Amino acid sequence: MEIFKTQKELKKHLSSLPDKTIGFVPTMGALHRGHLSLLIRAKVECELVICSIFVNPTQFNDKKDFENYPILIDEDIKQLKSIGCDILYLPENVEDVYLNERDLNVDLGILDKVMEGINRPGHFNGVMRVVKLLFDIVSPTKAYFGLKDYQQYLIIKTMTQQLNLTIEVIGCDIIREADGLAMSSRNLLLTFQQRQVATTLIKTLQYCKDHINEAPIEALERRCLAMMTQYGEPEYFVIRRADNLEKVTPDYTGEVRAFVVCKIGKVRLIDNLQVR
Ligand code: AMP
Repeated sequence: MEIFKTQKELKKHLSSLPDKTIGFVPTMGALHRGHLSLLIRAKVECELVICSIFVNPTQFNDKKDFENYPILIDEDIKQLKSIGCDILYLPENVEDVYLNERDLNVDLGILDKVMEGINRPGHFNGVMRVVKLLFDIVSPTKAYFGLKDYQQYLIIKTMTQQLNLTIEVIGCDIIREADGLAMSSRNLLLTFQQRQVATTLIKTLQYCKDHINEAPIEALERRCLAMMTQYGEPEYFVIRRADNLEKVTPDYTGEVRAFVVCKIGKVRLIDNLQVR
């Protein structure tokens, strides 16, 4: 695996491989099987796989969360090599990524105004900025995002469409621990006890799925939120249309997902599940 610390060197290298299909997986590191599943899919579908590891400051609305974000570069590099990742872009500083930034003109409608958009002001703007810059640097054929960050996935898909980028944005299934907890770099920050309690998220999502046709949506949302307060500090539990995150109206027959965010101790965990 080749490691590039500047976009200049990476672009130079890529210009010597003009006809390869490129699969790209942007990450913030502390890699786990969730990240690796995206890279493995890229490996199957593309000729060249590029991973980036960059803890992007502009998407953190909470300074402490940014400062505490786990960094495990040596371990990450080992994992990337083990699955045959071809290239790692590991920017040496923030400036290297933001070098050629231009204004972004994207209308996200409600996509950045609900759920995480309310609770993490500026977060999606930071995500869009960095993903657009990384897309410009890497010029991928396909880019892979986890459905764990479902709202992010829809926003990147929308941005790509509106900017007419010829990049296929692919959403990949959520990878979970044996007890159902969605894999996350932040799980490393949980104590042993908090780790046990953290399964509440998937248990409540599963409960929601089991009862989706029995109760009115808003009553079910309230019940699930109340269930979670026994174990942690839930920020929201909402049931939304999967295609645009609008509320589910009685005449809507398409895919529906439930979304949850809950703080267990100081760790903010996020998860979602298709419930219909
Ligand atoms: P992050 O490093 O948290 O920014 O995540 C990088 C990518 O990995 C994002 O597209 C995430 O949605 C995805 N990802 C993180 N955790 C999981 C998981 N448990 N299953 C599938 N994809 C994931």
